[in-house]
Amino acid sequence: MTIENNTSAISEKMRFSDLLAIPEVRARWEKVRKYFFLRESTYDMSNRCNIRCDGCYYYEGDKQFAAENLNVEDWRLLMKAEKAGGITYVVLAGAEPSLVPELLEACYAEMPLGSIATNGFKKIPESVGYKIHISVWGNDETSLRVRRAKNLLKRQIENYANDQRAVFVYTFTRDNIDEVHDVAARLADAGCRMTFNVFSSPVGYQGPLRHDEKTLQLTRGAMIDLLNRYPRYVLFSVYNAVAHTSEAGLHELYGCSYPRCNPSQDIGLGRSFRQYRTDLNWDRSVACCVPDTDCADCRHYAAGSAVVTARLYRHVNHPDTFKSWLDYVDTYLAVWVTGYDKGENLCERVIHPPVKG
Ligand code: SF4
Ligand code: SF4
Repeated sequence: MTIENNTSAISEKMRFSDLLAIPEVRARWEKVRKYFFLRESTYDMSNRCNIRCDGCYYYEGDKQFAAENLNVEDWRLLMKAEKAGGITYVVLAGAEPSLVPELLEACYAEMPLGSIATNGFKKIPESVGYKIHISVWGNDETSLRVRRAKNLLKRQIENYANDQRAVFVYTFTRDNIDEVHDVAARLADAGCRMTFNVFSSPVGYQGPLRHDEKTLQLTRGAMIDLLNRYPRYVLFSVYNAVAHTSEAGLHELYGCSYPRCNPSQDIGLGRSFRQYRTDLNWDRSVACCVPDTDCADCRHYAAGSAVVTARLYRHVNHPDTFKSWLDYVDTYLAVWVTGYDKGENLCERVIHPPVKG
């Protein structure tokens, strides 16, 4: 996570020391600030997938055509170089990382903090201690229709119930909002933790999964309802719901700092972040955590983890606004960092994202 540096903006609003005089705020601030050292990059581990979903952003654009480098030693050397360059956290993603377990082992041996984005169909060996994000797009009927995968949720639960690494990530599309309630009940029954994502269209996508204003509002309602119903199993906060279901996307609300939107090499993620393809090359002009996603429609949970957390200084004008930001960061760390436990949320009010000060 890269916190934007703007201490003068803090002093012009509320004094930061006033906020930290609130005991629960200070305790949460001390808890989360230990992780400000995290600097991420992302890596496509394989260009193959064992299922094929509508609206998959991996199979948009050029990256799907990069050759696979399956040489374990090359990946080990890449991780060493990344570490030397200041990267402390890796996101191993698409197409499907579980198909190359030996590469995951090599990355983990060099870089112990990170996460893997998987469809959960094939279990990743327990020796790989990264967080594991299992993508859920609806109930089994919907998964069969949209992802062409039979009994996917059943298979995912069989593979990852009682696995401390696992977080199930339910992606709200325009047509699966109601079924989240049954899915959440099944996951909670099995003792699985979950968080939420919002479908963000690939560039040029106008298909049936794309949200509109009404479905964003319904999604927000379902998120907050489930957060209250399953507080032990749902890793989320009211502010997470607001940030990811506003009519304006994350870039318009917060200003995205990934290189694709932030060509300056001097600011935050624009300086350090790389998105490696399967051939271990990267292209600065398209680098972000969800390449080939339409920036105007981007509400992706992975994007928010960097974009919202970076805007600390915008959230210091009122205790509830700062508490909301702390809830967001606490959620982000619980979802992405092994061994970090989510605390109770500090703010249950709906706080609208503050505009740039
Ligand atoms: S599981 Fe992921 S990578 Fe595979 S097709 Fe679906 S969205 Fe794409
Ligand atoms: S798709 Fe999202 S994360 Fe990527 S550059 Fe655009 S706004 Fe940023």
